[in-house]
Amino acid sequence: MSSEILYDTIIIGAGPAGLSAGLYAARGNLKTLIIEKGIVGGQLQVTHEIENYPGMDHMTGPQISDAMEEQTRRFDCDIVTNDPVQSIDLESQPKVVKTEKNEFKAKTIIIASGSEHNQLGVTGEQENWGKGVSYCAVCDGAFFKDREVVVVGGGSSACEEGNFLTKFAKKVTLVHRRDQLRAERILQERFKANPKTDIKWDSVVTKINGGVLGVESVTIKNLKTGEEYDYPTEGVFIYVGLSPNIGFLNGKIDLDESGKIKSNIKMETNLPGVYVAGDVRDTVLKQAVTAASDGSLAATMAIGYVEALEDKNLASV
Ligand code: NAP
Repeated sequence: MSSEILYDTIIIGAGPAGLSAGLYAARGNLKTLIIEKGIVGGQLQVTHEIENYPGMDHMTGPQISDAMEEQTRRFDCDIVTNDPVQSIDLESQPKVVKTEKNEFKAKTIIIASGSEHNQLGVTGEQENWGKGVSYCAVCDGAFFKDREVVVVGGGSSACEEGNFLTKFAKKVTLVHRRDQLRAERILQERFKANPKTDIKWDSVVTKINGGVLGVESVTIKNLKTGEEYDYPTEGVFIYVGLSPNIGFLNGKIDLDESGKIKSNIKMETNLPGVYVAGDVRDTVLKQAVTAASDGSLAATMAIGYVEALEDKNLASV
């Protein structure tokens, strides 16, 4: 990969949205580069099982990610990993992407930078990160064999990953701030039916207490009664929502009130030649399958844009 190459399209992010965009763009004959800040796969890498991607039953997130990467590379899509994007000039032509290690140019950009797990923001969270506090059950669950862990949050991630943690932990206690879960119904029911789980309703974790060896307890407050108490646990898995990865954007692109990139049904943003796909856009459903669908559509629009640019250039010769 050379910074001298003028790419037809650069895709930011190698999750399911970015890989699908890469497959469609490269197969559509665009000179394509995917830039990934970490490793290929995005949220797929931290999801133990995907059971709702049609045709891929009983596969782990990493297995689906590997299959997508292999298929995308087959069409000569370039992929750069471990090179975070620092800034992009989205209004110049060509558009310029500056990463930690390189500078790349492209006629079009597809932003598929995904989202990442929010922090809870309580005392003891950062201090005990990696010493009992985790945002990834797939990565860290096995460290908690026969121990008790707490999961914070009431969404699909909390229920799904909480259920996964019961493979290792002897008890998983979910702490949720309301008296009703937000998670998809099937995931709620599965979590509640698991004999190793318990739920503390109307409750929040206000502090994570640790010693030299790591987490020892969490302080829980019942929001209805006001009661506050320490609850012994060695692990705290935090699943309190996701925020879009948009730190590298320069403020010229339109965002919605929650900070996600505004898009129309063609995955177009307010800037010509700039498209968006997956969790980073204002989507109502955050799933691997919808991310892949977004990516295919964004790439198809980018192909049309590049062809129109070429026609314009030919006409002006
Ligand atoms: P989410 O749906 O936004 O849920 C976040 C949960 O954290 C909510 O229950 C929320 O409580 C709680 N919360 C937020 N801030 C909090 C705070 N400061 N203190 C305590 N609790 C807090 O996030 P998610 O579960 O990560 O899911 C993200 C997206 O991925 C969703 O669209 C979901 O459908 C999707 N997803 C799908 C699957 C699947 O299909 N298998 C699996 C995982 C995720 P409230 O409910 O009170 O707001």
